[in-house]
Amino acid sequence: MLEIKEKSITVSVDASKCDACQSKACAEACKKFARGILVIKDGKPSVAHLTESEVLRLGTECLACEIACQFDGNKAISIDIEVDGLPEYLAKRGLA
Ligand code: SF4
Repeated sequence: MLEIKEKSITVSVDASKCDACQSKACAEACKKFARGILVIKDGKPSVAHLTESEVLRLGTECLACEIACQFDGNKAISIDIEVDGLPEYLAKRGLA
């Protein structure tokens, strides 16, 4: 599992699904809607050409890679967005 940490989100990629992906739509979406930090290397998404601080500085947290992968890729990307107080709120409402 590839994990990419941006300022307030974590992008998780199940790269085992990427070899069979023809579109590589994640990288195209990143280039089109953000700064193109996600590139395809050896058939899989990668930010290895950047340092950790460059990823933090350049990542726009736009979520385009996840949406593109869901619709045109192999559903390999999920993005976690931590919301302060949400677990407590859900527990209080009986939704946890
Ligand atoms: S679009 Fe999804 S399945 Fe295709 S290469 Fe990108 S992350 Fe992998």
